Amino acid sequence: MVAYQILGCRLGQAAVCVRMMSSNTAVQQSAKLAGKIAIVTASTDGIGLAIARRLGEDGAHVVVSSRKQTNVDSAVAELKGLGCSVLGLTCHVAKEQDRQNLISKTLEKFGGIDILVSNAAVNPAVGGVLDCPESVWDKIFEINVKNALQLSQLVVPHMQERGGGAIVYISSIAGFQPMNLLGAYSVSKTALLGLTKAVAHQVASDNIRVNCVAPGIVRTNFSSTLTQHPAVYEKILETIPLGRIAETKEMAGLVSFLCSSDASYITGESFIAAGGMQSRL
Ligand code: NAP
Repeated sequence: MVAYQILGCRLGQAAVCVRMMSSNTAVQQSAKLAGKIAIVTASTDGIGLAIARRLGEDGAHVVVSSRKQTNVDSAVAELKGLGCSVLGLTCHVAKEQDRQNLISKTLEKFGGIDILVSNAAVNPAVGGVLDCPESVWDKIFEINVKNALQLSQLVVPHMQERGGGAIVYISSIAGFQPMNLLGAYSVSKTALLGLTKAVAHQVASDNIRVNCVAPGIVRTNFSSTLTQHPAVYEKILETIPLGRIAETKEMAGLVSFLCSSDASYITGESFIAAGGMQSRL
């Protein structure tokens, strides 16, 4: 059984805050991103899913996507269960047809695009940057950097049509402080810091803001190789002043803030959420 309770609304605001209550869920949808249409790539698990969930809880219509239909289906079911407005699509970010489909189906369903969170990344091999084979380098830079640019190229005209928008790239603490065993991946994440500045400058006059979030070590499948060996995990914890790795939801609030009007004067910036790990002054 589902009941809706009006929590309150302020005159002049487009949306009403609604609390949806059912026997096992209780979610507040604030008006912070109400009516916004958000695409989050690689969003059926890990950090991407947490971001999609948070944007949905903050009122946005969210498009979740990843390569596998079963993962898309379960992410859609989860977000719908929370009362979010959600569309699920398969999208391998390296496939042009999938990227085009992601945009066209979003426009078809929701009628515009306000937010892009470019979250997809790979690290197919572990090792120092000088040991990186060409094929691995190319794969890392294709997915982590080139596809982020290509998705931006696709969404910007639609954001221009709507008079503004927000793009957030997901980099990494390794983009600031390269990790020896993640050599090429680290450099690809540094490239996103530059991409953030370059795209931000180009679209600033269109009222499109472009920012970057650099997570520290976050509990996901991606980081499990680092966290599943007790000795390695112990060493990692020594490098984190807060003394623990992050949970995925600890990245999501920052992304939601950057997409919202609370961040209306912030563009071209990179934000580190890494528990105090060594990064920059
Ligand atoms: P994750 O838990 O392994 O999640 C990966 C997600 O990406 C899944 O939904 C997967 O679904 C999807 N995916 C994988 N390859 C894809 C592709 N080519 N196209 C579209 N979707 C794809 O990863 P994560 O740890 O959340 O990482 C997310 C982002 O955070 C990455 O940019 C990563 O570099 C960054 N980051 C992570 C950490 C960390 O400690 N976890 C730290 C710093 C930065 P399918 O299998 O269905 O495609």
